Amino acid sequence: IITFERVNKWYGDAFHVLRDIDLSVRRGERIVICGPSGSGKSTLIRCINALEPYQEGRIGVDGTPLGIEGREDDRAVQAVRRQVGMVFQQFNLFPHLTVLQNLTLAPLHVSREPKREAEARAMAQLERVHIAEQAHKFPLQLSGGQQQRVAIARALCLAPKIMLFDEPTSALDPEMIREVLDVMIELAGQGMTMVCVTHEMGFAKSVADRVVFMDQGQIVEAAPPAEFFNAPRSERTRSFLEQVL
Ligand code: ATP
Ligand code: MG
Repeated sequence: IITFERVNKWYGDAFHVLRDIDLSVRRGERIVICGPSGSGKSTLIRCINALEPYQEGRIGVDGTPLGIEGREDDRAVQAVRRQVGMVFQQFNLFPHLTVLQNLTLAPLHVSREPKREAEARAMAQLERVHIAEQAHKFPLQLSGGQQQRVAIARALCLAPKIMLFDEPTSALDPEMIREVLDVMIELAGQGMTMVCVTHEMGFAKSVADRVVFMDQGQIVEAAPPAEFFNAPRSERTRSFLEQVL
């Protein structure tokens, strides 16, 4: 459902941030991406929903090619963004809107859905992340873990085929990490295609179909967790794992 073929990306003229990325993700597959700070993890997943242009190679999402920089097709970008939900480290909720209003904003104003339907679907997604009772509160009245679950529900409201997570638990206090991971585990159980950048290696071990290790803009290793954690092939992967495990 996602394919990268020899993708290269530079920031400016000089900084080669993605180097010959080859990756294909099957429908329903759960991928965890890990690697040191600055290795290009966020850049890679932001390419999947065309938040970042790339200069060489090919990226396709759900059968739609995303052209290289300068040859993007707006309709392809729109089509892909409709299929892809994204959750960031910072929750990016609107503080002056209630939880429910945060969820219905895009359906009402972008997809022009009738209000009652948008609200019913929003409530269903809030239930899915176990937070329906908070629908009429404002984001800052919620804990960080609750806010992140709202952000997940907001992405789910647009019925994406793919969910991207960029360090969704990194801004949370330790006691709140679990509730967000549990929601992500449930989503995985429902067959969602997921690409998650995370340092939560327990999550990677129990949920990922494949773990991808990036370093200096390259995919150094990609393997099922049993292999990745027990028998890493590359020395760079081994020394990274020694630091994080
Ligand atoms: P982290 O674990 O810290 O989130 P990351 O693996 O997600 O790191 P990226 O955010 O993809 O790394 O950044 C990769 C490299 O590209 C870093 O060296 C970063 O400084 C650089 N970079 C990121 N965004 C830009 C930008 N808009 N312009 C120039 N350089 C950038
Ligand atoms: Mg990042």
